Amino acid sequence: MVIVMKPKATQADIDKVVKRVEGAGLKTHLSTGEECTIIGVIGDKKKIASLEMNMMEGVEKTLHITEKYKLVSRSFKAEDTVIDVDGIKIGGKHFAVMAGPCAVENMEQLTEAAHAVKIAGAQFLRGGAFKPRTSPYDFQGLKEEGLKLLRQAADKEDLKVVTEVLNHDDIELIEKYADILQVGARNMHNFELLKALGHAHKPVMLKRGLSATLTEWLNAAEYIMSGGNEQVIFCERGIRTYETYTRNTLDLSAVAAIKELSHLPIIVDPSHGTGRRSLVAPMAKAAVAAGADGLIIEVHPHPEVALSDGDQSLTPQAFNELMSSLKHFTKFMDKEL
Ligand code: PEP
Ligand code: MN
Repeated sequence: MVIVMKPKATQADIDKVVKRVEGAGLKTHLSTGEECTIIGVIGDKKKIASLEMNMMEGVEKTLHITEKYKLVSRSFKAEDTVIDVDGIKIGGKHFAVMAGPCAVENMEQLTEAAHAVKIAGAQFLRGGAFKPRTSPYDFQGLKEEGLKLLRQAADKEDLKVVTEVLNHDDIELIEKYADILQVGARNMHNFELLKALGHAHKPVMLKRGLSATLTEWLNAAEYIMSGGNEQVIFCERGIRTYETYTRNTLDLSAVAAIKELSHLPIIVDPSHGTGRRSLVAPMAKAAVAAGADGLIIEVHPHPEVALSDGDQSLTPQAFNELMSSLKHFTKFMDKEL
């Protein structure tokens, strides 16, 4: 349930409402908007149904939310959430670009990639140290050594780090090196991992599952938020369809839909979304037009020798050109890049 307070409601009115709800053994979640305060109520359905709030001082109305996800929902919080990653903002007017290789391979590769993405204007260095590969014989990542390289290369260029966490046992380790924890498409349904990330201290970038509906994706974010970590960023990375020309089908309608359904920021991954280098730039521009809050793009100094995802990785030069043209698109969409 959501309790919408009157614009003129006083702090004392709000406190009384919260006290009554919490006194009934339910949890509250406050969002203070420019117009009014909204109090979200979470907990046992029967207890919520028996609450009589409409007559209380300062209460405008109560709304019952039928969706299972609540904290994630736009009905709970009308304003866009802006995630502050150690000074770099994502959401609202702030457009974020994360770029770098699919996998951390070695210091030379990463140093070159970090320098290239920085001068092109990215704020985040991406790179997998723990890689979820389709085949067990493929490169699985450098693990902690990769995390150290990421941190070093990023610090040298004053970039933030985003990297994937595959397993809840690794969260603590990865948090030491990364600024954003990435949940990969294959793990979007890993509820134990999501629950553990609810207690993490870093923002989580939650990729859409290979065949996840928007409701499933929103509920995955609810798992993280309900654990106490409210810093969640969605990432549309394409879904499985019957099309084989592209690696996945990038669902840009999901961007506009998530914006309607949730206050959380959403970014787009046109690299995994298409699997083809030539399609990355057009889809990156389309993502901005669809209302995305950022992009995550694979960039490799030498894509032809990349240990993973070379076919979809941009060269530093192509990334630089893309960034120059993106500035026009973000400006048109009233976003700061
Ligand atoms: C990646 O970002 O390199 C990755 C493995 O992405 P996804 O989980 O979207 O396949
Ligand atoms: Mn990849």
